[in-house]
Amino acid sequence: MRTNPWLEKSKLNLIPLSLANEFKEALKEWTFTGEVQDYGDASVECELCEHPELRYHFEIKNEIKESTLWVGSSCILRFQEIGVFDEDGNRLIDKSSRSKELNRQLKKALEDKMLEPLRKLWKVFDKHSDERQFIERAVRNYKLQSAFSPIELLKLFKLLQSLKINYDPKNYKVSLRSDDNKYSIYSIKNEDLELIKPCFTNEQVKKHISLISKKYY
Ligand SMILES: [Zn+2]
Repeated sequence: MRTNPWLEKSKLNLIPLSLANEFKEALKEWTFTGEVQDYGDASVECELCEHPELRYHFEIKNEIKESTLWVGSSCILRFQEIGVFDEDGNRLIDKSSRSKELNRQLKKALEDKMLEPLRKLWKVFDKHSDERQFIERAVRNYKLQSAFSPIELLKLFKLLQSLKINYDPKNYKVSLRSDDNKYSIYSIKNEDLELIKPCFTNEQVKKHISLISKKYY
């Protein structure tokens, strides 16, 4: 009989880190911890099945043996014995709710990564300062719309740069949905537009090519 290489590798990697010697039983000892890592590009391998080219790692833990593995979300979904729990500690059984929970944790991790430089920035300024109020307002708007306006983002990036706080522009989403946001692009200088250009998705570039490309002539 032909064996599935991913499955064979998973057994070899999991059983030594588990108490049980049988794969299915061993899987039951493991749960998703809620920790997610983003590597920016598809550069890591699943520590369970050794599948390469993953961008995100999800952590699973064996509480009995205190061992951990960083794996792809598809492994957690494929092996239903691995525990996934919701915020209230209920075990999720069906595939769609397990998948939803992994996505929720991923979104949270990405948002944390995006907010971290802004928290540093916020701390630099005094209470009641215009800058602090601006940062708070921008983050509040972001939470409502899941994206920043182009002007807000530009101002945040300039503040981060002036204070030499590291940030990755690719972690920030920009909204071009409203007319205000669209037309504000015209008021942005070319060199400033370069700062927020990494934030545009391919879809936004395609859809608003005339708006964005005009700036390069
Ligand atoms: Zn895997």
